[in-house]
Amino acid sequence: MIELPTIQPESFRDHIATVDKDGKRVWVYPKKPKGKFTRYRNYVGYTLLAIFFIAPFIKINQEPLIMLNVLERHFVLFGIVFWPQDFHLFLLATLALIVFVVLFTVIYGRVFCGWACPQTIFMELVFRKIEYWIEGDWKQQKLLNESSLTQNKILKKAAKHGLFFAISFIISNLFLTYIIGTDTWLKMISDNPGKHMGGLSSMFIFTAVFYFVYAKFREQVCTTVCPYGRLQGVMLDKKSIVVAYDYVRGEGRAKIHKNENRSLSGKGDCIDCHHCVDVCPTGIDIRNGLQMECINCTACIDACDDILSKVGFETGLIRYASEEAIAERKPFSFTKRIAAYTTVLLLLIISLSILLITRPDVETSILRTPGILYQKQGEMAYSNLYNLKIVNKTQKNLILNFKLENIRGEIKMVGKVPDIKAQAISEGAMFVILDKSQISSRKTKLEIGVYEGTRKIETVSTSFISPGNNQN
Ligand code: SF4
Ligand code: SF4
Repeated sequence: MIELPTIQPESFRDHIATVDKDGKRVWVYPKKPKGKFTRYRNYVGYTLLAIFFIAPFIKINQEPLIMLNVLERHFVLFGIVFWPQDFHLFLLATLALIVFVVLFTVIYGRVFCGWACPQTIFMELVFRKIEYWIEGDWKQQKLLNESSLTQNKILKKAAKHGLFFAISFIISNLFLTYIIGTDTWLKMISDNPGKHMGGLSSMFIFTAVFYFVYAKFREQVCTTVCPYGRLQGVMLDKKSIVVAYDYVRGEGRAKIHKNENRSLSGKGDCIDCHHCVDVCPTGIDIRNGLQMECINCTACIDACDDILSKVGFETGLIRYASEEAIAERKPFSFTKRIAAYTTVLLLLIISLSILLITRPDVETSILRTPGILYQKQGEMAYSNLYNLKIVNKTQKNLILNFKLENIRGEIKMVGKVPDIKAQAISEGAMFVILDKSQISSRKTKLEIGVYEGTRKIETVSTSFISPGNNQN
């Protein structure tokens, strides 16, 4: 009889793998992964990296593809400018995105974390690769860290951290282009630094943050900070497809011996080689089951497939599968929860598309100037003063005119007709003058048509205040 390892099934859930019992950080030295999934992840990751870097520089109708200027509340998605007035659209788009992520997680687990999350892509495809290149694979890195200070160690550490800092600086600049746009960013880096102290300070703060994250904090972002990671317990169920260890096939784990018949001796297919643990960037053992720390990076699939094929076993002991599929050998099924999430997602996407398609190009607000009631215009008429605000979301300058639609009267602009520039907000003021004969009460409803030439763009409702028809 073989002696099976004593497994305390849930003890690993009492602590995270990267913190020891004294609360000290356990540094993870993951072995360099290689294999089919690593290769595919590289293709996907480098493509996404290219998109990350190019996106802010792509312009549609002179607007960036993406810009999220939270400071000035100026948001651009696919060249469409969103104004504070479009906040409901932006909120709906964000909501749709969140539901999409949740739905996707329910079905496919943390595929996003392993394949598309910027943190994973930068960490595994940029910083980790530089580390392997300069310091060698995991064992050499560990040796180097534990060795005394030599010239070689100083050189390697200086080269690595120098590169890390330079790349963090580049990422920080890229991050800024998403916030302030490439034009402002270019101006900031080419202009007199004294004029851009705020922007330049944020650039160095972001650089320091990125450097700290990728040089020191690393997997702790995923295991302790990321809210998406924390929510896995709520979103995943037994039918979610995750990177999973097939314990039905693998348990009875034991080292392999020449010419043995493992099934006869009650051994499973896991040869307890520890390779899946060695490659794990979050330092966990996938054989313990579904864990919050697992970012579904697939490194353990490649490591396990590699060793199993070498010893002549069928691969796929660690694979993409649901807990249910492993326990019951059941195929993937479309649960009620997935159906509900899909319905909500579809409804959100449809509403969002309708709102986007029917979004008005020009939004005008005409409000009576606060603090002023009305003015007498001779013996026969009254006037009200209005503040005018026009949001022009189109790409062209506009010349607008205004007409009273529901009542006879006159509109007089105060000063010039506001110059309504493309993609900008213009403000102005105007008087509405009504003859006493048109006024029947203290508050008269006005419908004002907004025209470009003879084309009516919209009708704006407002009110007209006067003493009423009994104050002649
Ligand atoms: S358990 Fe496997 S998939 Fe999960 S983080 Fe570790 S190596 Fe990646
Ligand atoms: S790599 Fe595969 S065979 Fe080796 S310990 Fe992990 S699960 Fe078992």
